[in-house]
Amino acid sequence: MFTFTKEFDTEKTFIPDDVINTLLEQAKNPDPIYVREILEKSLNKNRLEPIEVATLLNVEDKELLEEIFQAARTLKERIYGNRIVLFAPLYIGNDCINDCVYCGFRSSNPEIYRKTLTTEELRNEVKALVSKGHKRLIVVYGEHPRYSPEYIAETINVIYNTKVGHGEIRRVNVNAAPQTIEGYKIIHDAGIGTYQIFQETYHYPTYKKLHPRGPKSNYAWRLYGLDRAMLGGIDDLGIGALFGLYDWKYEVMGLLYHTIHLEQRFGVGPHTISFPRIEPAVGSDITENPPYKVSDDEFKKMVAIIRLAVPYTGMILTAREPAELRREVLKMGISQIDGGSSIGIGSYSQEDPEKIKRSQFVLGDNRSLEEIIQDLIKEGYIPSFCTACYRAGRTGEHFMEFAIPGFVKRFCTPNALFTLREYLNDYASEETKQLGNALIVEELQRVNNTDKVTEFLGRIDRGERDVRF
Ligand code: SAM
Ligand code: SF4
Repeated sequence: MFTFTKEFDTEKTFIPDDVINTLLEQAKNPDPIYVREILEKSLNKNRLEPIEVATLLNVEDKELLEEIFQAARTLKERIYGNRIVLFAPLYIGNDCINDCVYCGFRSSNPEIYRKTLTTEELRNEVKALVSKGHKRLIVVYGEHPRYSPEYIAETINVIYNTKVGHGEIRRVNVNAAPQTIEGYKIIHDAGIGTYQIFQETYHYPTYKKLHPRGPKSNYAWRLYGLDRAMLGGIDDLGIGALFGLYDWKYEVMGLLYHTIHLEQRFGVGPHTISFPRIEPAVGSDITENPPYKVSDDEFKKMVAIIRLAVPYTGMILTAREPAELRREVLKMGISQIDGGSSIGIGSYSQEDPEKIKRSQFVLGDNRSLEEIIQDLIKEGYIPSFCTACYRAGRTGEHFMEFAIPGFVKRFCTPNALFTLREYLNDYASEETKQLGNALIVEELQRVNNTDKVTEFLGRIDRGERDVRF
């Protein structure tokens, strides 16, 4: 089986360009009865087949579309309940030898300030994040020889070892360049959660055009990057596409074929799927007017269809999107969002008036973590910082929720309440405390083992931390 090399690139991969185009064409004007059968199949927790996803993608009828949205909402409520997991992105450095035309960090961009955090600066960033209440991070790096697997592992160790009072980071996910199998082993040993690689576009000719130089110009090396991660011992994988580069329907099909490939080769699909839309980036004209701009309505449809297509996967919605849209799309099956994000390098611990010049792109949602937590509670969600599965050696937290009947009620909801209580006791204002504690009282009536959950909450109130089921 292939893992590909840095030298060899090919269009002949598990992404069948001609089949995708044929299916998208064939599935035009879908029969409502067939569409409803597909929705039913997904609601019964089955991953959809390419022709079925192509069919959903071709639904234009307003009422039928509403049925798709409703099915996505139902699936989310039925399987995952009302928790939303919170995390923050932490940019470590923006040196980069690639030249992705849409990215502020690209090597030929003279307008960006280059910066890599020193160990001391990294500690300060982590302290600032922990002091806000964060427990989960995604660390982000440009692609550069200085960001070697050893370096990535070292930065992750610094993060895990930086504590402030009761607080600490308990799970570090990684978004970095594809590695060799050996490289992944080194990063794996640092104790990471998910390794994310976005293919950006699955459409080979577009990919080649938009990644003109550097190692990332090799489509196959990147596409098989997560295969190598798996072979290097990392079995918690995040896939994604950057929406706006090519036809969004094609990209959804690409994400599906990637999912099917991982299932077939390794017996497990992706742990998470991400679907960032292009945001304006300093010195990158293409971002002002993306060639295949995805409208808000298309975005909502896409999120609902991905939810239905791969019912077992976690779905990540980032602060690239504005607050209002995030509120709306959350209902459609999102499991993780970032909060209080700042993507200038070093910008959690230092005010930087020129932050924009150190940032990869511009964020759409600038609410603080606390504001987001308040909003979530008001909308009926339980904000969660849970890292229990990872710490208990149960990989694929979202898969557990999906695959094991009753898992959410027995583990996820209590653990979400415990981490919320920790947050309220350690970091929240009086107003948020009141809101959060009222939510906990309400949720206690719905959990299975109220006595035990109440007992654990009491332990947290007496100062114990990291209690979990
Ligand atoms: N350098 C590594 C790589 O490219 O895989 C990892 C980090 S890169 C900074 C993280 C992701 O940011 C990319 O995979 C891409 O999808 C996304 N990104 C790049 N430019 C963007 C933009 N202008 N708007 C939104 N997302 C962008
Ligand atoms: Fe570098 Fe990643 Fe930006 Fe491409 S997307 S220029 S690889 S940081």
